[in-house]
Amino acid sequence: MSGGDMAKPLLGHRSMEGDPSIKPAAGRTIGVLGSGDFARSLAIRLVCSGFKVVVGSRNPKRKASLFPSAAEVTFQAEAVKKTDVIFVAVFREHYSTLCDLADVLVGKILVDVSNNTEINHHKESNAEYLASLFPACTVVKGFNVVSAWTLQSGARDGNKQVLICSNNQEAKRTVAEIAQVMGFTPVDMGCMRSACEIENIPLRLLPAWKIPTFLALGLFLCFFTYNLIRQVIHPYIREQKNKLYKIPIEVVNTTLPCVAYVMLSLVYLPGVLAACSQLYYGTKYRRFPDWLDQWLQHRKQIGLLSFFCAALHAVYSLCLPMRRSHRYQLIEMAVKQAVEKKMNIWVEEEVWRMEIYISVGIIALGLLSLLAITSLPSIANSLNWREFSFIQSTLGFIALVISTLHTLTYGWSRAFDENQYKFYLPPTYTLTLLVPCTVILAKVIFSLPCIQQRLLRIRRGWEKGRYVKFVLPSATGEYSSGETSSNV
Ligand code: NAP
Repeated sequence: MSGGDMAKPLLGHRSMEGDPSIKPAAGRTIGVLGSGDFARSLAIRLVCSGFKVVVGSRNPKRKASLFPSAAEVTFQAEAVKKTDVIFVAVFREHYSTLCDLADVLVGKILVDVSNNTEINHHKESNAEYLASLFPACTVVKGFNVVSAWTLQSGARDGNKQVLICSNNQEAKRTVAEIAQVMGFTPVDMGCMRSACEIENIPLRLLPAWKIPTFLALGLFLCFFTYNLIRQVIHPYIREQKNKLYKIPIEVVNTTLPCVAYVMLSLVYLPGVLAACSQLYYGTKYRRFPDWLDQWLQHRKQIGLLSFFCAALHAVYSLCLPMRRSHRYQLIEMAVKQAVEKKMNIWVEEEVWRMEIYISVGIIALGLLSLLAITSLPSIANSLNWREFSFIQSTLGFIALVISTLHTLTYGWSRAFDENQYKFYLPPTYTLTLLVPCTVILAKVIFSLPCIQQRLLRIRRGWEKGRYVKFVLPSATGEYSSGETSSNV
């Protein structure tokens, strides 16, 4: 694996949740320096978790009413004397103002909860800076990835992981123990050098969404320009007709389904490429190229963006008849028919096309909604692997096939009508069909028994050109084993 969140040390480190050495520590006195938002939420959570809390403030009289009555609010030096573990809920800029407390802090554990305003803001992490100011203390970095809101919202809500690092194992274990009693999952991130990375985590802005979002925007821009040329620029140049009014709704609404449809196919294309690679090399143990690896990891986000565009397309489509331009066009058509004395304008083929087109569109959107809902961690966690893969893989592929039907019934025979080729450009829907049809075709080929069997064997560990041990049932029902070339 090359990138993405899973490649980051977060999961590479050992979760301390099941550590037998961690024992409940409720009842212990915990100190908190500072009386701001974080200190207040922390104190509430600590009190609720059974700890005694002593808050150190520069102005305890004024701040005491903000804290639960069970928490003692006193001067900083007083608070520090009463406990061995102190959460420093103060901004880095003010650490130096705590230096007066250096004598009373000797030998104590300081928990640095601070965050920065920019990634890699300072040369050294805040925790390392705090450790340099108080060399006689043991500093543990932790709790910065948890917000004040999470602390107050109870054990069932919010982020549950607390990333912890320190150069002192014992101190780290003590803080992990406190985190666990508070209902969090402590994650050991190693020594103090990890503090910088832990401090950067809350500043990351949706890292897994960058590539899929750029992809969606890129596709939107390409299809929007293409549709603009066909629907607005072409009538203006050829017939001097001003169709600019089409831009906000019609052009956008013909662009959105293109993006949704192509994005949906891009969820399944990397799987097809991965299968091709496995079939070609005859092994599943060969690493995929980095770009394919990245693509495979971003499938969930690509799928969700596809659903987002499809949902917008549905809303835009429902709004089409509301437009003033649409009403004018309807009246214009009615007047034209009256002048031409046309009584029956019913075109059976068109009626059927539209009914089927809308119906399959609704089904496709319904399936996409199901895929989106089941990709939410809380729902996904309640499914077993078979259920999850059935919904995401099988139903997802069915959604792609139904979306293809939706596109084909929309296009109908337009691809064969030369009037539809504006500036020799084919109708947009024909372009969107390219990738999805390739994916569907590949999936059909992979489902052929000879290919499916080979792929299944590869995915169970079979390798081309390797000798493997095999076990075969004999005629009597007993099993015999031997060595064979897996090429056979
Ligand atoms: P805050 O509301 O501004 O509180 C900071 C507190 O620091 C003040 O209430 C003050 O308490 C104390 N302080 C001590 N010396 C100070 C000085 N010289 N000048 C000004 N204040 C001084 O900030 P906060 O949101 O609680 O954040 C505190 C720390 O927690 C920060 O390092 C922040 O990065 C971290 N953090 C906050 C959150 C969050 O959701 N808010 C989340 C993660 C981490 P006294 O006046 O009583 O001394």
